[in-house]
This record gives sequence, structure tokens and C-alpha cells, in this order.
Amino acid sequence: MPDLETVLAALAEEMAARPDRGEVASYIPQLGKIDPQRFGIAVALADGRMLVAGDADEPFSIQSISKIFTLTLALGKVGDALWRRVGREPSGNPFNSIIQLEHERGIPRNPFINSGAIVVTDVLLAGHQPREAIGEILRFVQFLAEDDTVFIDKDVAASEKATGYRNVALANYMRAFDNLNHAPELALGVYFHHCAIAMSCRQLALSGRFLAHGGKSPSTGHSVISPERARRILALMLTCGHYDGSGDFAFRVGIPGKSGVGGGILGIVPGIASIAVWSPGLNENGNSRLGSIVLEKLAKAMDWSIFAP
Ligand code: GLN
Repeated sequence: MPDLETVLAALAEEMAARPDRGEVASYIPQLGKIDPQRFGIAVALADGRMLVAGDADEPFSIQSISKIFTLTLALGKVGDALWRRVGREPSGNPFNSIIQLEHERGIPRNPFINSGAIVVTDVLLAGHQPREAIGEILRFVQFLAEDDTVFIDKDVAASEKATGYRNVALANYMRAFDNLNHAPELALGVYFHHCAIAMSCRQLALSGRFLAHGGKSPSTGHSVISPERARRILALMLTCGHYDGSGDFAFRVGIPGKSGVGGGILGIVPGIASIAVWSPGLNENGNSRLGSIVLEKLAKAMDWSIFAP
């Protein structure tokens, strides 16, 4: 097995030199300002080691990667009842598709496309003011990362609120089907804020460890969720974590992953590693272009795959 530290350093150098970096998301104006040259990677291993390369300590907008954490919280709150309001099938459509929601009568295909994540956020709002729900989500992520400096970038949240017309349409449409219990603007307010959580690759890799280790934090041994639930979240990440690019990601990389339009990806090698990568330029499916490529190369170099014997 090659030395992981050497592999990461070589990959970071290779990625820094590549000109084909994809397009930075500009539909959220604040994200459009990010330098596409940025690249970071962090790998948290089972034995507690953390290996990093590139801009691994620079916070970026985790965007849809936050949907893993809200799903985890919502399952803790309502359990399998969640599946009455959200499906578990890959969408095969863009993450903000409106036409699919009409076909499926207001029941989103899965919890990782925007409509599904807005329903999940609506579940977390029950019994809370939006401010409390946002605080609960942020504290959960800080707890997982074992780092209280994880924060919500208010400028990114405001930028998305000012331009999030498609998400407003999705939320209103679901409300018309009685699949939203709160006013669309309240659910969206919480949604935009959790998407605006800012973390570094190092913090994100730490926060994914519970998924790599059967629902347990490897540093404390404490259980965050049951092993069964961790497996199910990983199954959803594999099948739905990259939207209409999920099949290709599974084919190329072979591990569960979740992307965000900020250019981050959290990848999990069960029992072995929690990996966070960040490169802001996106491919045609809205997933980090170099992030996907570097995960493919890393998995190949280390022989990491959930399909390996
Ligand atoms: N906040 C973004 C949106 O709603 C999240 C999308 C993403 O990261 N794919 O459009």
C-alpha cells in the first residue's frame, strides 16, 4: 500500500497545476467570488491520524453537504416516519428540478435534492423558532467536528436568500401539496443558513467520522447514531449524494459521497477513512470537478472501494 501522506502531497500538487477546474457556482453571488484555484484535502483515519494537503484549513461553504447532518438530526427526531414525506430513490435529475416534484405530487425523490432537504429542514423546525433550529444544526456540526469555531457565513446565507427563487418555488409547491408544515419562508430561512455553514476540509473530515465508523465517534467511542442508521445514510449518499451524477461518482470512485455547490465533497470509506476535498469549480452536474477527480485517483491509489473484496 503506498504511503498516504506521499499520495496526498502528489495529488495536491497535480490538482494545483490543472487548468480544467470547472465553473464556480455563480447563481449564489457570494459563492461566485471564490477563487477557483483553491484546493484542499483532508483524510481522517480510524486510528485518529489526520493527513492534509493544500488549503485544508481554509473554511468554505459546505452547502449541500450539510444535508447529511440535517438528515441525521431529522431521523433522530421522527425516525422512519420521515419516509412518508421524502423518497429514497436517485433523482436522475438536477438538484433543483421543479418538473420532477410535479410528477411526484410534492413528495421529493430523496433527502439530498433541494426539495427533499427543505422537507427535512421543515421537520427540524417543528416546535422551534427558526433561530433555535439553526442553532441546533450548527451545534450538532460543531459537536461532530469537535470544534466550536465552525460557523455560519451570514453573507452566503443572505446572498442565497436574495436570489433563491427556485428554492422558493419548490417550497411553495410542496406547501400546496401539504408536504411543508411551516411557512415556506421559515423553512427556507433555516435551509439557507445550514447550507451556509462554513468549514475547512479538516473540520469536515472530522465531522464525517461517525459515518465511517458505524455511527460511533472513533475518538470518544460514543455512539452518535445506530450502526444501521449510519449504513442507511451511506446508502443514500452513494445513490443520491451527487444528484444526476451519482451513478458516475459510484462508478468512478466507488465510495459514498456527498457534494455541495461550494465545491466540497465528503467521501466515506467505511471502517477506514472520512475524506473531505474542496475545489470550487463545478462540473455539469454541480459537483466539484477536481474534487471528484482527486477522489477517484485517491481511491484508486489506496485501493479504497466499498466494492473491494
Ligand atoms: N444551497 C444550495 C441550493 O439550494 C445547495 C445546492 C447544492 O449544494 N447542490 O441551491
